[in-house]
Parts: sequence; structure tokens; C-alpha cells
Amino acid sequence: MAAFIRGGVRAGPRARVVIVGAGFGGLECARKLNGAAADVLLLDQSGYHLFTPLLYQVATALLNPSVIVYPPRALFR
Ligand SMILES: Cc1cc2nc3c(=O)[nH]c(=O)nc-3n(C[C@H](O)[C@H](O)[C@H](O)COP(=O)(O)OP(=O)(O)OC[C@H]3O[C@@H](n4cnc5c(N)ncnc54)[C@H](O)[C@@H]3O)c2cc1C
Repeated sequence: MAAFIRGGVRAGPRARVVIVGAGFGGLECARKLNGAAADVLLLDQSGYHLFTPLLYQVATALLNPSVIVYPPRALFR
């Protein structure tokens, strides 16, 4: 694929962006890149997003763990 770096920005058919980690930062980054002229790849070692603000409710048995843990792909489809 013909591509080159110009002024710090990759020029060519499409940029490729790899986001490592589907935490709050990774998800927000992916959302911001929605519609951008780039192929975005979101990776996570666990394969799920953990919604930490409600973790204490799981710890105290008020919520089922499945409520605060979900695959990132569920958010982008
Ligand atoms: C119990 C608890 C309650 C909280 N409540 C709040 C709250 O109410 N309000 C608030 O603002 N903040 C809260 N926080 C803080 C908030 O969770 C963090 O600030 C936020 O998660 C940081 O986001 P992040 O994207 O940097 O990291 P994370 O959300 O931790 O995401 C990092 C992701 O990267 C992945 N990862 C790590 N290493 C690799 C690797 N080598 N390769 C691939 N993937 C990798 C992990 O699996 C994880 O999914 C809370 C935190 C905890 C623990």
C-alpha cells in the first residue's frame, strides 16, 4: 500500500489507528474517531469493558456482574 508520513500525519488511502485497551479512554477515543477517514482497531486483553463506577454494587451483591461487564463490540454495532 502506498503511504507516507507528511507533517506527522500519515498520508495515503486511509490511516490505520490501533487503540490498545477498551477502558473508558479507549472507548472514548474510538467514539471520537467514528466517521473519520481511518480504519480503527480496538484491542483489549480481556475482551470486555468493565464499568467500574458500579463495581461496588456487584461487590455488595446488588447487581449481577453481567450488568457492568460487556464486550466493546456491543457498543459499536
Ligand atoms: C471501583 C472503582 C470505581 C470507580 N468509580 C469511578 C467513578 O465513579 N467516576 C470516575 O470518573 N472514575 C471512577 N473510577 C476510575 C475509572 O474507572 C478510571 O479512571 C478509568 O477506568 C480509567 O480509564 P482508562 O481507559 O485509563 O483505563 P481502564 O478503564 O482501566 O481501561 C484499561 C483497559 O486496557 C486493557 N488493557 C490493559 N493492558 C492491556 C494490554 N497490554 N493489552 C490490551 N489491553 C490492555 C484493560 O483490560 C482495560 O480494559 C473508578 C475506579 C474503580 C476501580
